Amino acid sequence: MASEKTINDLFLDTFKDIYFAEKQILKALPKMARATQSEDAKAGFLQHRDETQGQIKRLEQVFEQLGKSARGKTCEAIQGIIAEGEEIMEDYKGTTALDAGLISSAQAVEHYEIARYGTLKAWATQLGLKDAIPLLDANLQEEIATDQKLTALGQSSANAKAPTKKAS
Ligand code: FE
Ligand code: FE
Ligand code: FE
Repeated sequence: MASEKTINDLFLDTFKDIYFAEKQILKALPKMARATQSEDAKAGFLQHRDETQGQIKRLEQVFEQLGKSARGKTCEAIQGIIAEGEEIMEDYKGTTALDAGLISSAQAVEHYEIARYGTLKAWATQLGLKDAIPLLDANLQEEIATDQKLTALGQSSANAKAPTKKAS
């Protein structure tokens, strides 16, 4: 008989998923900062790298609250999203479209995080994990703010610089 699984299990598995993802993102952001040709994007990627370090600390606080050791669970989704970003870095290196591509990759990362933190916050609320909620929400708000900055960055610089082909 399959053992009974609950929202508690879902919460913990998903929590380990985002912990793994954040650690991968921490390694990816400096690479993106090195790859971009835009000073604004570089500063943004590095700032979010520092924020990500703080986010990981918050997640470790939640592990402590749960009485669990901080251990991630492989997230194939973030590995795929980061791999796509690396493909852009290679395929668009030295081109005027590179920064638009990097910003779009970074937004895919933020949207994954927003989905995860939105769900985790809802489940924490449902499970009465009162101390975890503000920590999850702090991470969620940073991801939302980062996503908005990326949208502005894409509109103001990268997209404007990238030459477009006229539709035929
Ligand atoms: Fe994050
Ligand atoms: Fe995942
Ligand atoms: Fe993020």
